[in-house]
Parts: sequence; structure tokens; C-alpha cells
Amino acid sequence: MKKVAKRLLLQMHIYHPLQSFYRGSINFSKKKYYQFTYSKYKGKGFICNYCKASYEKFVPEYPSQPIEESLNINEVIAGYGANVYCPNCMSKNRERLLLAVIQNRVQFKKKSILHFSPEKHLYDFLNTQAIVSPVDILPGFYQSIDRSTAYADATNLLFKDESFEIVIANHIMEHIPEDIQAMKEIHRVLKPGGLAILQVPYSEKLKKTIEDPFINNPIEQEKLYGQKDHVRIYALNDYLSRLKTAGFKIEVLANPELEVYKIYAIQENEKVFICHKEK
Ligand SMILES: [Zn+2]
Repeated sequence: MKKVAKRLLLQMHIYHPLQSFYRGSINFSKKKYYQFTYSKYKGKGFICNYCKASYEKFVPEYPSQPIEESLNINEVIAGYGANVYCPNCMSKNRERLLLAVIQNRVQFKKKSILHFSPEKHLYDFLNTQAIVSPVDILPGFYQSIDRSTAYADATNLLFKDESFEIVIANHIMEHIPEDIQAMKEIHRVLKPGGLAILQVPYSEKLKKTIEDPFINNPIEQEKLYGQKDHVRIYALNDYLSRLKTAGFKIEVLANPELEVYKIYAIQENEKVFICHKEK
């Protein structure tokens, strides 16, 4: 019955917009709940670089048991932990890290930006100061963030060569089976001298990326990769070498440079990958 209803809603092209609306409502309720319950922690400590609120602690997010096992064994930097969501605006740690890096390291004002799977806070910030094109393979899912979110398959982009100055894809490569093809496409649509910020969950412990094209089952994917819609866990060195294969020159930002952003309750030790297209 559930499957039939889903198929029907998909045929009517309203399944993902409904999911988007549902997600937006849940986030709104969560925000109200945490604004109330965390009011006692207000004041010193972490600061949210989106809403400027400060709290002694932020809202944690820990993975469920099968996910935790796979992430812990492989020491994956995946964004879980003690201080993930801002209790005031619900921005996520990975959005705060990117905002800090973009504000301090990237000339983004008035630039043309292709933003994959736009995350609300980062998208709203960029959209006021640059020309942002929001896209996703399931654009309906992003209707509550921006109704203009367009369809885009990262492995076969419908944009002309050299269309954008900046591309942002915050945690999408781990979802894409043909990831090197997606990296090549992103390189193609960037203008010479442009850059892409392509964050993924990764492991510095792994020597080889964990992936198996024959595994196509959410339960197994969750157990093996730490999320039911992921198709791999990247070994850091392999991830960087795939980006190089696609033509990028990589700049890896790490501590101590990123340590100064700890005040924004970012994921500790997460590196940032700035991928340059040469002039
Ligand atoms: Zn906030």
C-alpha cells in the first residue's frame, strides 16, 4: 500500500516536494524546541557564524549503532558528534565550516556559483551576495529551500563549458557511483581560475576506498558505508587522487589554520578541499 502511494505521488511529481515540505516543517518544530530547551545554555562558548547566537553547547547528533560501528572502525570524519546543530537556527557543523572558509579564503561576492544539494543556511547566505544556481538530481526535495532549484545530474551537466566561477558540493560525491565523471563535469563547467569546494566524509586510516558496485541495498550500504544512500567511504589519499585525475589542483586546508574556527562548533580535524581549475 505504502509502495503504491509512493509510486502514485512520484508519477504526479509531488513526492519530493511533499518530502521537502515535511522536512521544512520538522526543522521548524525542532528549531522552536531547541530554542526553548537550550535557552539555559545561552551566553559564552560556541558562536554560530550564521545567526551569531552563542551557547555553551550545541545540539549533538550521534549515529545509530550499525552506522557508528562502520564509522568508528574506519575512523571516518563524517560530521557526527557533540556540537552539530546550532540551537537557535539549526545550522549544521559542516555548513558553519564552509561559511568560515568561504568568508576568509574565497572571493565569492558577485561570483557565479553552482550549488549542489543546497543547504539552507549556506545557500541563503551566498544567495544574497552572489549569483547562485541551486541544483540537485531530485530538485523537488529542495523546494522548501528554493523553488528555483533545478534538475542536474552531476555526471552529465547541461551547462556549457566554463559557466561558473565557483562550485559547491558539500557531501555529494559519496552518493555518486560514477564520481570521477562527476568531478570531470564540475571541472568542465568551471571557468579557468575557478574553484570547487567538494567536501566528503573520509578516512585517513584507510589505505583503499571501501566500495563495491555490486552492493545496491540500503541496509548493507548503511552497515558498510555509514549511510544508506552512500556508495563508498573514501580513503583520503584516494579521494585526492581522483580529484587530480579529473584535472584539479588541490589545496587541502587543515589545522592549525582551521583550528581558529573551533569557536563555530565545527567538526574537529575535518579538512577542507579547495579544488582549483588552472588558468
Ligand atoms: Zn545559528
